[in-house]
Amino acid sequence: MEKRGITRRQFLKYAGATAALLGLSESLIPEIARALEEAAAGKPPVIWLQGQNCTGCSISLLNSNYPMIAEVVLDKLSIRYHPTVMAAAGDVAMKAIEETAKEMAGKYILVVEGPVPTAEGGEFCTFGLEKETKAFHGYQRRKDKPMTAWMEELVPGAAAVVAVGNCASFGGIPAANAEVTGTKPVMDVVAGIAKDKPVINIGGCPAHPDWIIGTILDYLINKKVPELDQHKRPKKFFGMLIHENCERRAAFDAGLFLEDWNDYNPDMKLCLFKMGCKGPVTYADCPIRRWNSGVNWCVGANAPCHGCAEPAFYKDLSPLYKPLPNMHFPGLSTLPDNLGWIAAGATAVGIGAHYLYKQLGKKEEGGEK
Ligand code: SF4
Ligand code: SF4
Repeated sequence: MEKRGITRRQFLKYAGATAALLGLSESLIPEIARALEEAAAGKPPVIWLQGQNCTGCSISLLNSNYPMIAEVVLDKLSIRYHPTVMAAAGDVAMKAIEETAKEMAGKYILVVEGPVPTAEGGEFCTFGLEKETKAFHGYQRRKDKPMTAWMEELVPGAAAVVAVGNCASFGGIPAANAEVTGTKPVMDVVAGIAKDKPVINIGGCPAHPDWIIGTILDYLINKKVPELDQHKRPKKFFGMLIHENCERRAAFDAGLFLEDWNDYNPDMKLCLFKMGCKGPVTYADCPIRRWNSGVNWCVGANAPCHGCAEPAFYKDLSPLYKPLPNMHFPGLSTLPDNLGWIAAGATAVGIGAHYLYKQLGKKEEGGEK
């Protein structure tokens, strides 16, 4: 870093920014600086694969300016393979994966963006070539290598697997109603290869750059998987209910709802529940962290939260602009036509979020539609 003109003072500033990103006390800055120095010296290797994805999470990562992506890529991690940002291509790129897997077994972090299609021998998503050949119109040619084969090759030697974005974590849009490709979330594929391999899920469509960088830095600094919730998401970023931290919560409690986009009045800040907001069942720190370097977030931009951090997204939280389905809450009225119960406030909503999940679970098992 010295060679790149980064001074000790700048480095400590960077360590301070990392502490803020991870929600740690400033008193830990010297310890973070030491851990970052160690990590930078060792340059932990990362292999970043892309399955059924739109590359949105990689684009989101490139939007990070806290810390700058270049600093992360060049100084803290050694990203050996990333299909979108690496300069190498063809055999050279494939060799980078193979060499990392061989030389750094047990040490590399496997990041996967997008879920894994498993139908028809995994042929819906292939990259690189298998060693053996297959017949093709009378000719022998090398076989394309499916994502499933890459997972089988790379999961056993990974120190940990990080699923980036809702699709990789939970299936997301590729696993929605009409899916035909046998889509599986990364954690299910990993469980079939190496049952005890640690998996971290970073939800979001896309994942917030702080969630991605913060999770990887947390792992490097503490040398262990961060505390996770029941969906394997880091509690640090996914431990709070959006609805409880939303700037429009007072409007919700007062029963002031936007009911027609044509009535939009920027001064009113009406609650977007009736326009499809899934904030009451979504755990993520978007209202506090915000997006685009803290500029704004979905509800702040007058767009309902679609619940993109949740396992139930997309299949069970769509249509996106329709309110959460009509459900009876214990001791409360029916949603969404009669919202009189809402004045009951936070306790009622707490019960509601829990109850809604139970209902969504039933729906998944083929029960209530
Ligand atoms: S329903 Fe949505 S817009 Fe309304 S208070 Fe909750 S999170 Fe905010
Ligand atoms: S507010 Fe909701 S839809 Fe928007 S990014 Fe956060 S979790 Fe996703």
